[in-house]
Amino acid sequence: MGLFSWNCKQCGESIKAPYDIPEGIEWQNEAVLLCEDGTMVCGDYDGYGRLGSAELANGTKDPELWHKKCWEGAGQPMKYSGPSDYAEDQGFFYGDDCGAECFEVVEDDGEGVYDD
Ligand SMILES: [Zn+2]
Repeated sequence: MGLFSWNCKQCGESIKAPYDIPEGIEWQNEAVLLCEDGTMVCGDYDGYGRLGSAELANGTKDPELWHKKCWEGAGQPMKYSGPSDYAEDQGFFYGDDCGAECFEVVEDDGEGVYDD
């Protein structure tokens, strides 16, 4: 299936999948997960629900996600404060300066151009 992601609690940008990350925002691939049950995991997000040792695909309830950098900037909060929003760009379909081409890809994603 496709990529999916959540938005960082701090800055509202998605946790990025590690594919074709534009130069300068590679840090948005590194994230911290906080769960309601007290679980805390830090690692690279694979774009398909795996973050370090955690699996976010199904059954992970309302994960709270931060970019590691944002989390550190916020004083490394250890306590769950509420779920992150689901990322509409799926951690992949984004980009400030690629305009029309990106929109074509988004409209075209029914057949999964980027699926393996
Ligand atoms: Zn952030």
